Amino acid sequence: MDNKQKTIVFKVSDNIKDQMIEHYQDMVTGKPPYSIFQVKQYDCVITLYESGKVMFQGIGADIEASFWTEQERIINNRNIDEETKKKEEKENNKEYYYYDAIGSDEVGTGDYFGPIIVTATLVNKTTRKLLEDLKIMDSKKMTDDKIRRCAPIIMKKLPYVTFTLSNTKYNELAKKGFNMNKIKAILHNKVLYELSNKGIAYHKIIVDQFTTPRSYFSYLKQENITEKVTKITFLTKGESAHLSVAAASVISRYLFLEEMDKMSNKYGITILKGASDKVDELGKQIVKKYGKQELEKIAKLNFKNTEKILK
Ligand code: MG
Repeated sequence: MDNKQKTIVFKVSDNIKDQMIEHYQDMVTGKPPYSIFQVKQYDCVITLYESGKVMFQGIGADIEASFWTEQERIINNRNIDEETKKKEEKENNKEYYYYDAIGSDEVGTGDYFGPIIVTATLVNKTTRKLLEDLKIMDSKKMTDDKIRRCAPIIMKKLPYVTFTLSNTKYNELAKKGFNMNKIKAILHNKVLYELSNKGIAYHKIIVDQFTTPRSYFSYLKQENITEKVTKITFLTKGESAHLSVAAASVISRYLFLEEMDKMSNKYGITILKGASDKVDELGKQIVKKYGKQELEKIAKLNFKNTEKILK
Protein backbone atom coordinates (compact mmCIF):
# COMPACT_ATOMS: atom_id res chain seq x y z
CA MET A 1 0.00 0.00 0.00
CA ASP A 2 1.12 3.53 -0.72
CA ASN A 3 2.02 4.92 2.67
CA LYS A 4 0.67 8.39 1.88
CA GLN A 5 -2.76 6.84 1.35
CA LYS A 6 -2.66 4.90 4.59
CA THR A 7 -5.92 5.15 6.50
CA ILE A 8 -6.62 3.74 9.94
CA VAL A 9 -10.15 3.82 11.29
CA PHE A 10 -11.56 2.57 14.57
CA LYS A 11 -14.13 3.52 17.16
CA VAL A 12 -12.81 4.95 20.39
CA SER A 13 -14.40 4.53 23.81
CA ASP A 14 -16.16 7.56 25.33
CA ASN A 15 -13.40 8.29 27.84
CA ILE A 16 -10.75 8.22 25.12
CA LYS A 17 -12.93 10.41 22.93
CA ASP A 18 -12.89 13.03 25.69
CA GLN A 19 -9.13 12.72 25.99
CA MET A 20 -8.72 13.23 22.25
CA ILE A 21 -10.86 16.35 22.27
CA GLU A 22 -8.71 17.77 25.02
CA HIS A 23 -5.44 16.64 23.46
CA TYR A 24 -6.11 18.15 20.04
CA GLN A 25 -8.12 21.23 21.03
CA ASP A 26 -5.40 23.77 20.20
CA MET A 27 -4.52 22.11 16.90
CA VAL A 28 -7.93 21.96 15.23
CA THR A 29 -7.84 22.96 11.56
CA GLY A 30 -11.38 22.14 10.43
CA LYS A 31 -14.71 20.50 11.06
CA PRO A 32 -16.04 18.27 8.25
CA PRO A 33 -19.72 17.18 8.41
CA TYR A 34 -20.56 14.94 11.41
CA SER A 35 -17.11 15.46 12.86
CA ILE A 36 -16.11 16.96 16.17
CA PHE A 37 -12.82 18.19 14.76
CA GLN A 38 -10.17 17.67 12.16
CA VAL A 39 -6.47 18.20 12.76
CA LYS A 40 -4.08 18.45 9.84
CA GLN A 41 -0.48 17.86 10.76
CA TYR A 42 2.32 17.70 8.22
CA ASP A 43 2.27 13.89 8.12
CA CYS A 44 -1.21 12.93 9.32
CA VAL A 45 -4.81 14.09 9.21
CA ILE A 46 -6.88 13.15 12.24
CA THR A 47 -10.66 13.34 12.10
CA LEU A 48 -12.81 12.50 15.10
CA TYR A 49 -16.50 11.94 14.38
CA GLU A 50 -19.47 12.42 16.67
CA SER A 51 -20.10 8.66 16.49
CA GLY A 52 -16.73 8.06 18.13
CA LYS A 53 -15.13 6.90 14.93
CA VAL A 54 -11.67 8.29 14.44
CA MET A 55 -9.75 8.34 11.18
CA PHE A 56 -5.99 8.74 10.79
CA GLN A 57 -4.76 9.37 7.26
CA GLY A 58 -1.30 9.85 5.83
CA ILE A 59 2.24 8.73 6.29
CA GLY A 60 2.17 9.31 10.06
CA ALA A 61 -1.17 7.51 10.57
CA ASP A 62 0.43 4.47 12.19
CA ILE A 63 2.30 6.39 14.84
CA GLU A 64 -0.51 8.79 15.66
CA ALA A 65 -3.08 5.98 15.86
CA SER A 66 -0.85 3.74 17.95
CA PHE A 67 -0.75 6.35 20.71
CA TRP A 68 -4.54 6.08 21.05
CA THR A 69 -4.78 2.30 20.66
CA GLU A 70 -2.22 2.13 23.46
CA GLN A 71 -4.43 4.40 25.61
CA GLU A 72 -7.38 2.09 24.92
CA ARG A 73 -5.26 -0.86 25.99
CA ILE A 74 -3.98 0.72 29.20
CA ILE A 75 -7.13 2.49 30.35
CA ASN A 76 -9.93 0.31 28.95
CA ASN A 77 -8.14 -3.00 28.46
CA ARG A 78 -9.27 -2.95 24.83
CA ASN A 79 -7.24 -4.47 22.03
CA ILE A 80 -8.13 -2.36 18.99
CA ASP A 81 -5.79 -4.23 16.64
CA GLU A 82 -7.41 -7.52 17.55
CA GLU A 83 -10.90 -6.05 17.12
CA THR A 84 -9.97 -4.68 13.69
CA LYS A 85 -8.52 -7.99 12.62
CA LYS A 86 -11.66 -9.85 13.66
CA LYS A 87 -13.85 -7.39 11.80
CA GLU A 88 -11.81 -7.77 8.63
CA GLU A 89 -11.93 -11.55 8.98
CA LYS A 90 -15.71 -11.42 9.20
CA GLU A 91 -15.97 -9.17 6.14
CA ASN A 92 -13.58 -11.39 4.27
CA ASN A 93 -15.57 -14.51 5.14
CA LYS A 94 -18.86 -12.99 3.92
CA GLU A 95 -17.45 -12.94 0.44
CA TYR A 96 -17.36 -16.74 0.16
CA TYR A 97 -20.82 -17.67 1.35
CA TYR A 98 -22.47 -17.81 -2.07
CA TYR A 99 -19.79 -19.75 -3.88
CA ASP A 100 -20.28 -23.39 -4.82
CA ALA A 101 -17.52 -24.74 -2.65
CA ILE A 102 -15.91 -27.85 -1.31
CA GLY A 103 -15.04 -27.54 2.35
CA SER A 104 -13.34 -29.81 4.84
CA ASP A 105 -13.16 -30.13 8.58
CA GLU A 106 -12.00 -32.65 11.15
CA VAL A 107 -12.98 -33.86 14.61
CA GLY A 108 -11.36 -35.91 17.33
CA THR A 109 -8.07 -34.05 17.52
CA GLY A 110 -8.84 -32.79 21.02
CA ASP A 111 -10.30 -36.06 22.27
CA TYR A 112 -8.10 -38.58 24.05
CA PHE A 113 -10.36 -41.47 23.15
CA GLY A 114 -11.55 -42.18 19.65
CA PRO A 115 -10.28 -41.72 16.11
CA ILE A 116 -9.68 -38.61 14.04
CA ILE A 117 -12.26 -38.15 11.33
CA VAL A 118 -11.89 -35.78 8.40
CA THR A 119 -14.60 -35.05 5.87
CA ALA A 120 -14.83 -33.01 2.69
CA THR A 121 -18.18 -32.09 1.20
CA LEU A 122 -19.64 -29.85 -1.48
CA VAL A 123 -22.34 -27.25 -0.94
CA ASN A 124 -23.71 -25.41 -3.95
CA LYS A 125 -26.65 -23.17 -4.69
CA THR A 126 -29.05 -26.12 -4.90
CA THR A 127 -28.14 -27.59 -1.51
CA ARG A 128 -27.45 -24.38 0.41
CA LYS A 129 -31.12 -23.87 1.22
CA LEU A 130 -31.44 -27.30 2.83
CA LEU A 131 -28.54 -26.57 5.16
CA GLU A 132 -29.93 -23.16 6.00
CA ASP A 133 -33.29 -24.75 6.82
CA LEU A 134 -31.62 -27.32 9.04
CA LYS A 135 -29.62 -24.49 10.65
CA ILE A 136 -26.35 -26.27 10.05
CA MET A 137 -23.39 -24.54 11.66
CA ASP A 138 -20.08 -25.48 13.19
CA SER A 139 -20.61 -28.84 14.90
CA LYS A 140 -19.07 -27.45 18.09
CA LYS A 141 -22.08 -25.15 18.31
CA MET A 142 -24.65 -27.91 17.78
CA THR A 143 -25.83 -30.44 20.32
CA ASP A 144 -25.06 -34.11 19.77
CA ASP A 145 -28.79 -34.78 19.48
CA LYS A 146 -29.17 -32.28 16.69
CA ILE A 147 -26.12 -33.67 14.92
CA ARG A 148 -27.53 -37.19 15.11
CA ARG A 149 -30.75 -35.93 13.54
CA CYS A 150 -29.30 -33.69 10.82
CA ALA A 151 -26.21 -35.54 9.65
CA PRO A 152 -28.04 -38.51 8.07
CA ILE A 153 -30.18 -36.06 6.09
CA ILE A 154 -27.28 -34.08 4.70
CA MET A 155 -25.28 -37.24 4.02
CA LYS A 156 -28.05 -38.33 1.67
CA LYS A 157 -28.08 -35.03 -0.19
CA LEU A 158 -24.46 -33.91 -0.36
CA PRO A 159 -21.53 -35.59 -2.07
CA TYR A 160 -18.82 -36.20 0.50
CA VAL A 161 -15.66 -38.13 1.20
CA THR A 162 -14.66 -39.03 4.70
CA PHE A 163 -11.70 -40.75 6.28
CA THR A 164 -11.28 -42.25 9.72
CA LEU A 165 -7.80 -42.50 11.18
CA SER A 166 -7.88 -45.29 13.74
CA ASN A 167 -6.13 -44.91 17.06
CA THR A 168 -3.70 -47.68 16.18
CA LYS A 169 -2.69 -45.85 13.01
CA TYR A 170 -2.58 -42.49 14.78
CA ASN A 171 -0.24 -43.90 17.41
CA GLU A 172 2.03 -45.31 14.72
CA LEU A 173 2.24 -41.91 13.00
CA ALA A 174 2.80 -40.09 16.28
CA LYS A 175 5.64 -42.50 17.10
CA LYS A 176 7.20 -41.66 13.74
CA GLY A 177 7.20 -38.01 14.81
CA PHE A 178 4.16 -36.75 12.94
CA ASN A 179 2.64 -33.85 14.85
CA MET A 180 -1.09 -33.16 14.87
CA ASN A 181 -0.94 -30.50 12.17
CA LYS A 182 0.97 -32.77 9.86
CA ILE A 183 -1.57 -35.52 10.36
CA LYS A 184 -4.40 -33.08 9.70
CA ALA A 185 -2.74 -31.74 6.53
CA ILE A 186 -2.35 -35.24 5.14
CA LEU A 187 -5.93 -36.22 5.97
CA HIS A 188 -7.50 -33.01 4.66
CA ASN A 189 -5.56 -33.35 1.44
CA LYS A 190 -6.67 -36.94 1.07
CA VAL A 191 -10.41 -36.26 1.30
CA LEU A 192 -10.21 -33.04 -0.72
CA TYR A 193 -8.29 -34.72 -3.48
CA GLU A 194 -10.74 -37.56 -3.71
CA LEU A 195 -13.85 -35.39 -3.69
CA SER A 196 -12.52 -32.76 -6.09
CA ASN A 197 -11.68 -35.49 -8.60
CA LYS A 198 -15.20 -36.87 -8.71
CA GLY A 199 -16.16 -34.58 -11.56
CA ILE A 200 -18.31 -32.24 -9.52
CA ALA A 201 -18.51 -28.52 -10.27
CA TYR A 202 -17.19 -26.02 -7.75
CA HIS A 203 -15.61 -22.57 -7.59
CA LYS A 204 -13.49 -22.89 -4.47
CA ILE A 205 -11.98 -25.30 -2.02
CA ILE A 206 -12.11 -24.00 1.53
CA VAL A 207 -10.20 -25.40 4.48
CA ASP A 208 -10.81 -24.34 8.05
CA GLN A 209 -7.30 -23.06 8.67
CA PHE A 210 -5.33 -24.90 11.36
CA THR A 211 -1.81 -24.03 10.26
CA THR A 212 -0.19 -21.64 7.81
CA PRO A 213 -0.62 -22.53 4.12
CA ARG A 214 3.14 -22.74 3.94
CA SER A 215 3.36 -25.40 6.67
CA TYR A 216 0.36 -27.21 5.24
CA PHE A 217 2.09 -27.73 1.91
CA SER A 218 5.47 -28.44 3.43
CA TYR A 219 3.92 -31.31 5.45
CA LEU A 220 2.63 -32.81 2.21
CA LYS A 221 5.99 -32.31 0.56
CA GLN A 222 7.83 -34.04 3.42
CA GLU A 223 5.80 -37.17 2.70
CA ASN A 224 6.22 -36.88 -1.07
CA ILE A 225 2.49 -36.73 -1.58
CA THR A 226 1.93 -36.11 -5.27
CA GLU A 227 -1.85 -36.52 -5.39
CA LYS A 228 -2.64 -33.19 -3.87
CA VAL A 229 -5.01 -30.26 -4.07
CA THR A 230 -3.08 -27.03 -4.38
CA LYS A 231 -5.73 -24.39 -4.99
CA ILE A 232 -7.06 -23.94 -1.48
CA THR A 233 -8.58 -20.96 0.28
CA PHE A 234 -7.59 -21.21 3.92
CA LEU A 235 -9.96 -19.36 6.22
CA THR A 236 -9.92 -18.98 9.96
CA LYS A 237 -13.47 -19.57 11.21
CA GLY A 238 -14.05 -21.42 7.95
CA GLU A 239 -17.26 -22.96 9.25
CA SER A 240 -18.92 -19.55 9.35
CA ALA A 241 -17.50 -18.57 5.95
CA HIS A 242 -19.03 -21.43 4.05
CA LEU A 243 -21.66 -24.03 4.80
CA SER A 244 -19.53 -26.76 3.23
CA VAL A 245 -17.06 -26.47 6.10
CA ALA A 246 -19.89 -26.48 8.63
CA ALA A 247 -21.50 -29.50 6.94
CA ALA A 248 -18.14 -31.29 6.84
CA SER A 249 -17.75 -30.72 10.56
CA VAL A 250 -21.25 -32.05 11.21
CA ILE A 251 -20.67 -35.22 9.19
CA SER A 252 -17.31 -35.78 10.87
CA ARG A 253 -18.83 -35.25 14.27
CA TYR A 254 -21.69 -37.64 13.54
CA LEU A 255 -19.34 -40.41 12.47
CA PHE A 256 -17.21 -39.71 15.52
CA LEU A 257 -20.24 -40.08 17.80
CA GLU A 258 -21.01 -43.40 16.14
CA GLU A 259 -17.45 -44.59 16.78
CA MET A 260 -17.73 -43.53 20.41
CA ASP A 261 -21.04 -45.42 20.69
CA LYS A 262 -19.42 -48.56 19.29
CA MET A 263 -16.57 -48.30 21.78
CA SER A 264 -18.97 -47.66 24.65
CA ASN A 265 -20.92 -50.80 23.72
CA LYS A 266 -17.79 -52.86 23.41
CA TYR A 267 -16.46 -51.87 26.84
CA GLY A 268 -19.84 -51.61 28.51
CA ILE A 269 -19.02 -48.13 29.77
CA THR A 270 -19.62 -44.66 28.31
CA ILE A 271 -16.46 -43.55 26.56
CA LEU A 272 -16.04 -39.85 27.23
CA LYS A 273 -15.07 -37.09 24.81
CA GLY A 274 -12.41 -34.50 25.53
CA ALA A 275 -9.28 -34.94 27.62
CA SER A 276 -10.38 -34.06 31.16
CA ASP A 277 -9.64 -35.65 34.54
CA LYS A 278 -12.77 -37.74 34.10
CA VAL A 279 -11.20 -39.15 30.96
CA ASP A 280 -8.16 -40.12 33.06
CA GLU A 281 -10.41 -41.93 35.53
CA LEU A 282 -12.08 -43.81 32.70
CA GLY A 283 -8.68 -44.70 31.27
CA LYS A 284 -7.61 -46.13 34.61
CA GLN A 285 -10.69 -48.34 34.74
CA ILE A 286 -10.04 -49.65 31.24
CA VAL A 287 -6.38 -50.35 31.96
CA LYS A 288 -7.31 -52.19 35.15
CA LYS A 289 -9.71 -54.42 33.30
CA TYR A 290 -8.03 -54.92 29.92
CA GLY A 291 -4.37 -54.04 30.47
CA LYS A 292 -2.43 -51.00 29.31
CA GLN A 293 -1.90 -52.28 25.77
CA GLU A 294 -5.64 -51.74 25.25
CA LEU A 295 -5.10 -47.97 25.21
CA GLU A 296 -3.13 -48.25 21.99
CA LYS A 297 -6.32 -49.27 20.19
CA ILE A 298 -8.68 -46.65 21.57
CA ALA A 299 -6.67 -43.63 22.72
CA LYS A 300 -4.14 -41.09 21.47
CA LEU A 301 -1.14 -42.20 23.47
CA ASN A 302 0.91 -39.03 23.08
CA PHE A 303 -1.66 -37.00 25.01
CA LYS A 304 -0.68 -36.13 28.58
CA ASN A 305 -3.58 -38.26 29.79
CA THR A 306 -1.60 -41.47 29.19
CA GLU A 307 1.00 -40.54 31.76
CA LYS A 308 -1.65 -39.69 34.33
CA ILE A 309 -3.53 -42.92 33.64
CA LEU A 310 -0.47 -45.14 33.99
CA LYS A 311 0.88 -43.37 37.07
MG1 MG B 1 -11.97 -27.05 12.34
